[in-house]
Order: sequence, then structure tokens, then C-alpha cells
Amino acid sequence: MSRYVFALDQGTTSSRAILFDHTGAPVQVAQREFPQIFPQPGWVEHDPEAIWRSQLEVARGAMVGVDPAEVAAIGIANQRETTVLWDRRTGEPIGNAIVWQDRRTADLCERLRSEGHEPSFRAKTGLLLDPYFSGTKLRWMLDAAPDVRERAQRGDLAFGTVDAYLLWRLTGGRVHATDVTNASRTLLFDIHRFEWDEELLSILGIPRAVLPEVRSCSEVFGETDPSLFGRPIPIAGIAGDQQAATFGQGCLRPGMVKNTYGTGCFLLANTGPTPVASPNRLLTTPAWRIGGATTYALEGSVFVAGAAIQWLRDELGLIASASEAEALAASVPDTGGVFVVPAFAGLGAPYWDPYARGTIVGLTRGTTKAHLVRATLESLAYQTLDVLEAMRLDSGAPIRELRVDGGASQNDLLMQVQADLAGVPVVRPTVTESTAFGAAALAGLAVGFWASAEEAVGGPRAERTFEPSMSADERECRLAEWRRAVDRSHGWTQT
Ligand code: ADP
Repeated sequence: MSRYVFALDQGTTSSRAILFDHTGAPVQVAQREFPQIFPQPGWVEHDPEAIWRSQLEVARGAMVGVDPAEVAAIGIANQRETTVLWDRRTGEPIGNAIVWQDRRTADLCERLRSEGHEPSFRAKTGLLLDPYFSGTKLRWMLDAAPDVRERAQRGDLAFGTVDAYLLWRLTGGRVHATDVTNASRTLLFDIHRFEWDEELLSILGIPRAVLPEVRSCSEVFGETDPSLFGRPIPIAGIAGDQQAATFGQGCLRPGMVKNTYGTGCFLLANTGPTPVASPNRLLTTPAWRIGGATTYALEGSVFVAGAAIQWLRDELGLIASASEAEALAASVPDTGGVFVVPAFAGLGAPYWDPYARGTIVGLTRGTTKAHLVRATLESLAYQTLDVLEAMRLDSGAPIRELRVDGGASQNDLLMQVQADLAGVPVVRPTVTESTAFGAAALAGLAVGFWASAEEAVGGPRAERTFEPSMSADERECRLAEWRRAVDRSHGWTQT
């Protein structure tokens, strides 16, 4: 009888492995950071071999003392969009992986936009033309050296996002496949018809021969090579990290929203079985596909969230640790009229303004460091609110509560401010490993470890609920002031 499901959570800065029991409790955890490579400004790379080695090492670490026969299945959640190209015969990567944060294809995106291609990409993939997504990164790799394209056309090379690369390595090179959530981040995949799109492939000049097979999120993809863990274990779940977290948070019904407060904020709202187009510049994306049924989501990202707290600590020296922000912010009743807009890297959804820069407004002679810290902390809540408002407008459905996870969700003051500003309860679960748990749940479902999604992730798991206590008038007033502050940050580097 299997006792565990195993999640491999391959993130941007570290690889993690977590063994979960049938109650969804994490039993053993291992984590390891791996090197970030910055060859030039705006470029971010990972060594695929380092990703694999760190992931295998933590997987073995989290399995210490466990009989592999007790592990029902493995689920993979991964940093999304990061692009890997490798030789099918030798397994040798064609250069480093190009990481989602990498901006090297900004000019290509600009060109495609000026040629009028964006509406087609938007309609078919639910995305915008932005260097963030894999398609232009893959195009760049194919053009980087003389013989690469030719080898790709001959079928000698394989492309994958990190999930596909890990799956290929885990199965000893036997399976080249991905899931719909990862495929949907490539700019090449039609999220309505569930297939690679010929027109988009030809616009980007991508040979079909490099592409992985696309499968659902919860099915047996293959088995691990017996040499890895002593005996084969089925790999039965795959989803991009944010989609996995949405599933792990139990956002199973339309209108349910999760927000991960990490370096940035990532919000996904379940919109049910039909994809909802977004006039407010959110992304339309599959949340998961299980047994032939797809659930879609609207997604919005905030580029700088927890990173603004790191800025208070590392660049301004106003706090010694991220956790100190809460006490300092709580030492004043409000921000004294100060707003911090941390548009350090431009603004993401719903503004998408690469030319915006950080702005502080409302300073007076009486402004203290506590006000600044509080205003920075509150900026996480305001930016989240902007995305929530766009979700409300796009989906036309009320949002009843916000489920939260990620490092900064441990900040009680921030969570209370968030509940007040959003006007809905903010629910923080006991197990905040939503991403890994989501991957484990998708895998466990496929092999019958859990009988239904409801059984796997639908149970009550709230550690604390923050109830809104601000009047609607005050909320409106504060939001209007925030919007005025955001206006002042727009277009700064363009003028
Ligand atoms: P990531 O997965 O993006 O690395 P995590 O989920 O580990 O992020 O969260 C780390 C982020 O959360 C950091 O940017 C940090 O500044 C922020 N953070 C951690 N604890 C707190 C806290 N108590 N209050 C505010 N921000 C915090």
C-alpha cells in the first residue's frame, strides 16, 4: 500500500522535493539552491545540468529512509517559460537554459508587434507578445549558432520547458512530453484546440520536430529510470508552478483566486471550463487539464512585491530582516499619506508599462522610516488589488475570498491590509507549500492515491482568515489615491 506522493518543485533559484502523506501533510523536505548566470544586462540563464543535478540530489535527500515502493507517484511543478534545447541522442544541452526573466528577445517581440502579429498570438495563446514567454527564446537559440536550426529540422534536437527536460532526464531519455499549462506559456500552443499552432510556428520560425508531445496535467507520463531511486516510480502529474499552486490551494470553482506573495506576486482566478478573454490585459491560461476536462484561469503578475521588502533591507538598510517590516509598519497607524510605487522593473498587469519606474509620493517633514516601510508593505496589497479589480471586470464574477501563500503571506499586517483593501476575506492555509502540494495532488489523482480533486485539495486547510474591516468609502478613497501615485510612475524612462 502506497503511503506517499512525491513532489519535485523546480523553482527559479532552488530545487525542492517534498514527500506528502495522504492527509496532504509534508513529511520530508529537501531544498538546494543552484547558480544564476547573468552573462550581460537583461540576460538570465541556468545550466540545465545544474538544474537536473540539484533536483536529483534533493529528490534523493527527501527519500532518505523511505522505501520507493511506498511512493505512489511523482508530480512535477516547475519555473515556467524557461527554455531548454538539447540533443536527443547525447542528452547534451544546446547552451544554457534561457530563464523566464531574460529580456534578450524584447526587440523581436517589438518587431512582431509592429508587423501586426499580436492579435493572433493573443487570440490563440491567451498571452501577450513579451520576452517573458518561451517562443522567442527558442527562436533565439535556433539562430544562435550556424548548425542548430538544421539539426532541429532533422529532428535531432528536443525543446522543452523545465518540466519536459526533467521528465526526459527522469525517464532516461524515453519520454519527450509536457503538459498543457507549460505548453500554454510558449506562444506556440493553441489553448482552445490543444495543439501546437502551425501559423504561430511559422511566424516564429520554429520547426515542429523539436516540440514535445502535449498531455494533460494528471496522467502517467512515464516511469523513472530504475537506476535513479532503486526502482521505477510513475511520473503522473505536471503543471507550471503557478497553476500547481492554484490547484494546491483548492481553487476548484470559478471565482476562486489565489495569490502567491514571493519575489513578485502571482494571481490566478479560476474561470471554469471556458477561456475568458481579457480586455484588461490579464493573461488567459489553462489552470489544469484532468481527464479531458480543462479548467481555465485569468492570470496577473506583479513584478516587484517581496523584492520591495528586500530593497528596504538591502539597499535602504531601513530593516535588518524581512520579518522586521511588520513591527516597524505596525508602529504607525497609517502611512501618513505616503505611497511607494515599486515599479523598479516597470509595471506588470494590468498596466504593462516597461517604462514606469519606482516612485514615492506624499512625503512631508514628518515622514518617518516607519511610514516608508509601511507604505512599501502596503504597495504589495495595492498592486494585488489592481490585478483583482481587473479580474473582477474581466470575469464579471464576484470574488468571494483570496487564498494566499508565499513568503510575505506570513506578514499578518499585510494580510489584514489586503483584506481591508480588497473587501474580501484573506485565507492563509496551514500548509503553505501550495505549489509542491498541487503537483503531488495532480500525480496522486492520476494513480488513484486520491479519488477526486475535491478529496485531494478541497478540504478545509485554513490556518487563519483575515476579515475585511474597512468601510467601502475609505477603500474607494485609498484606491483613488494609489491610482494617482501610479500615474506619476508611468512612462518615466521614456520622457
Ligand atoms: P520566492 O519563491 O519568490 O523566492 P518566497 O515565497 O520564498 O519567494 O518569499 C520570499 C519573499 O517574501 C522575499 O522577497 C521577502 O522579502 C518576502 N518576505 C518574507 N517574509 C516577509 C515578511 N514577514 N514580511 C514581508 N515580506 C516578507
